[in-house]
Amino acid sequence: MTSDPLRSSGALIAAGLLSGDERQQIDAVAAHYAVRVTPDIAALIDRDEPDDPVARQYLPRGEELRDGPGELADPIGDRRWSPVKGVVHRYPDRALLMPIHACAVYCRFCFRREAVGPGKTALNRAELAVALDYIRDHGEIWEVILTGGDPLLLSPRRLRELIQALAAIDHVAVIRIHSRVPMAATPRVTTRLIAALACDKALWLAIHANHANEFGPAQRAAISRLARAGIPLVGQTVLLRGVNDNAASLETLFRVMVANRIKPYYLHHPDLARGTGHFRLDIAQGQALCEQLRGRVSGLCQPTYVLDLPGGFGKVPLMPGHATREAGDGDGSWQIRDSTGNTHAYPPRSE
Ligand code: SF4
Repeated sequence: MTSDPLRSSGALIAAGLLSGDERQQIDAVAAHYAVRVTPDIAALIDRDEPDDPVARQYLPRGEELRDGPGELADPIGDRRWSPVKGVVHRYPDRALLMPIHACAVYCRFCFRREAVGPGKTALNRAELAVALDYIRDHGEIWEVILTGGDPLLLSPRRLRELIQALAAIDHVAVIRIHSRVPMAATPRVTTRLIAALACDKALWLAIHANHANEFGPAQRAAISRLARAGIPLVGQTVLLRGVNDNAASLETLFRVMVANRIKPYYLHHPDLARGTGHFRLDIAQGQALCEQLRGRVSGLCQPTYVLDLPGGFGKVPLMPGHATREAGDGDGSWQIRDSTGNTHAYPPRSE
């Protein structure tokens, strides 16, 4: 097997991951949304299983060409809250910093799928300096969340410089990094990369995984290297139709996370990103799954089920009280209450 990532329909077909019949459609998808499958991920896919839960997350499908009702290029309203390039300041005490717009793999359901990929701009040195100045000038920012793109694709030298710059800001107490690298590009989790994460502030790593099958030997070893270095690990998961939309899959995933020293943090309702309708469930299905999990696993294994409201209104838990179905003979829309008490309409899943 090649050690290069697979980036085209031809490479995916040659690797036995896609059939040649789909080539035209896949080329059309790849013209819109980036494709990249690493050897780590290709090794986890069962080529004889048409519904393989890892394949479904990474292999492009013709369905992505269909935009559904309510789907948006910027589904969680990042742009609305971006005061300077590369910074999103949606909540007073925390800010996102996006230094890079490339990822090790491109997830087919990604909520930033139109902002990440080859050719999308990363911050240059001058822009990064402006972004850091913004954080320095806003004393209310207690936590900086490095996201993107995947910050662990920065070279260890650039990553260390960035983390040291953030750690030197008095009011920044916590640095959180969101990454797929420990699951999808394990050779990058080197001693040098781990050393680059060392700093005097609390540094947390949020690892994105959606199915227990993603935890192969290479992934477990990479996670273990991070945990042994004393980096606290939390997990973020997206609830995805055809991947993990049943209680048994979620239970196994969260048990595997905790056994690998990752505390499940958020279970995200899939965002209204364009061309991702085939991944979405209705909120009621997600709520029912969380209810089932409650009786099956310990609190350690239970993340908070959340929705990032379209339009940039922020994240809300989807337990009863925050999410209610509209009364009457309407279309089954949901009413979601945000953290300020305002309510927002949210569409039911369309067939
Ligand atoms: S790694 Fe994260 S940002 Fe990158 S494609 Fe996947 S979900 Fe999107």
